[in-house]
Amino acid sequence: MKVLIVGTGISGLSAAVALASRGEDVIMISPFPSERAQSVMAAGGINAVDEESEDSFEAHIGDTLKGGRFIAGKEAVKGLCEAAPSVIRELEQMGTVFARDENGKIRRRAFGGQSFDRTCYSGTSTGKQIVTALRRELRRYESQGKAEIRLGTDFHSALIEDGRCYGILAYDERYASLAPIYADAVIIASGGQNALYGKTTGSTACDGYTAGRLFMQGAVLKNPEFVQFHPTTYVTPQKNMLISEAARGEGGRLFYVKDSKRVYFMEDLFGPKGNLMPRDVVSRSIFNTGEKVFLDVSFLGGKKIRERMLETYELCMKYGGLDITEEPIPVTPSVHFFMGGLAVDNGHMTNIDGLYAAGECASIYHGANRLGGNSMLAAFYGGKVAAGSIIEREEKREAPLFDGFIRDQEKAFNKILSSSGRKPVTDIRSKLAQAMKGSMGIIRNGKDLEDGINVLDGLIGQVREDEFDSSLLPYFTYSTEAIVVLGKAAMTAALARTESRGAHQRSEYKEEKDEFCAATLISYDGGRLSVSYDKEGRYEH
Ligand SMILES: Cc1cc2nc3c(=O)[nH]c(=O)nc-3n(C[C@H](O)[C@H](O)[C@H](O)COP(=O)(O)OP(=O)(O)OC[C@H]3O[C@@H](n4cnc5c(N)ncnc54)[C@H](O)[C@@H]3O)c2cc1C
Repeated sequence: MKVLIVGTGISGLSAAVALASRGEDVIMISPFPSERAQSVMAAGGINAVDEESEDSFEAHIGDTLKGGRFIAGKEAVKGLCEAAPSVIRELEQMGTVFARDENGKIRRRAFGGQSFDRTCYSGTSTGKQIVTALRRELRRYESQGKAEIRLGTDFHSALIEDGRCYGILAYDERYASLAPIYADAVIIASGGQNALYGKTTGSTACDGYTAGRLFMQGAVLKNPEFVQFHPTTYVTPQKNMLISEAARGEGGRLFYVKDSKRVYFMEDLFGPKGNLMPRDVVSRSIFNTGEKVFLDVSFLGGKKIRERMLETYELCMKYGGLDITEEPIPVTPSVHFFMGGLAVDNGHMTNIDGLYAAGECASIYHGANRLGGNSMLAAFYGGKVAAGSIIEREEKREAPLFDGFIRDQEKAFNKILSSSGRKPVTDIRSKLAQAMKGSMGIIRNGKDLEDGINVLDGLIGQVREDEFDSSLLPYFTYSTEAIVVLGKAAMTAALARTESRGAHQRSEYKEEKDEFCAATLISYDGGRLSVSYDKEGRYEH
């Protein structure tokens, strides 16, 4: 079989290695090499129970379900947590170097919402280590002709007929042209949805376009209203820099200053482990102080800081001139992770046959709030599960002719290339980010969400009617409508969920409600967005 993978981060690479090692042919596409995927930014670590400790799978499963406020599928989460120790072993065999103690045992650090120290790490560059190992592994199959990576190539749209996906239409940046790539199965591994908010902790390459476009083509989205704000980012003019949860895992303390005294508010609110509450709780608590909040790690001492979180130390020095061994870090919650994405079953297939999704673009394991360290695990494991399902479920297939569809897409694409318009399409993206920040922040309310939806409807109208400056990469122009539609899906789901749960907090409905203890499903239906709740576990069993 020939399998096409969109994206070369941890989930795409994991799927590619699993498929190629079992003899399948793999083509991967991405605008950038793996070394620039958001996965390399992942810092603090990856979760796996230490089987020789008091920790247990039940505890990891329980923490994950509780952190996600009980709307992630139990079976899916069970599979994830039980596989974690073997994921770590596999990564090690591929060459990932995890920190070890003096007895040679893998060290685990504390992360938020966990009842035991469970996060395996390589300093604060764990993602980089994992990507390097996976990339090296894939090279073996590239040299055997079983895997190929086409860079400078972006997803444009899927080739779908009668509810089955036969490949994609790809945009080739070198020739500014569209071309079909047919495949027996497709895995979307295109990461998060950062373009919705503009500046986040993540990579701008993960803009959500693929999920948005597939949504418009009939794929169901799940839980788009759940957006994780990481509690501790250090905002500099260049970046919203993540201060990894590792800093609090190693003992870092949050405080604000009142009457010249430090108030350790998380400890006052939640006791000695207060700094390591799940991210939604910490972000909300920081927001509610209404004060300028700081994170202090300086008391750990320079040696330990440089040993355990060198990258964090260097980043603060480089971008803010801040020496964290001496001074506390000013921190603000910022958009960091998207729990929502393409709805998939436990085998990672979407509602479209032959179309699979894994990693941050898929919604399956994290419910209403992701626990730190579970995301790289989910990306690696999800990629493998998708690969296994494809081998089990799919076969070689003859693709129908897509001439009419391709001709229509080329016509629209050529119109973008030859546009004499002067407006930069990036203005629309800035207005989208402004509306998302205004209506979809840490605390939401119905009025702001309705206003936000109206703004986005206006933007969708503008993208359809206006002509834009063609000197910008055509990708920016053709992708913008679907990204705005994705934002509208998030706002629509947030408006419909009249309760507060995990990362979705409504000022008028402060409590969780039993009737909403289910994942949100949302579909496009020719432009009319329909929301329902997955009470029967249609997507997870
Ligand atoms: C600063 C930071 C720190 C983090 N730390 C941790 C941590 O310590 N532990 C943890 O578990 N998680 C962490 N995360 C989250 C974690 O890194 C991601 O969720 C995970 O790596 C996502 O992997 P992925 O394979 O889904 O996507 P990515 O690594 O984002 O890869 C997406 C790929 O898709 C490609 N792509 C995007 N759009 C298109 C398109 N239109 N066409 C073709 N290709 C496309 C991209 O170029 C890229 O190759 C962190 C995230 C950030 C931002």
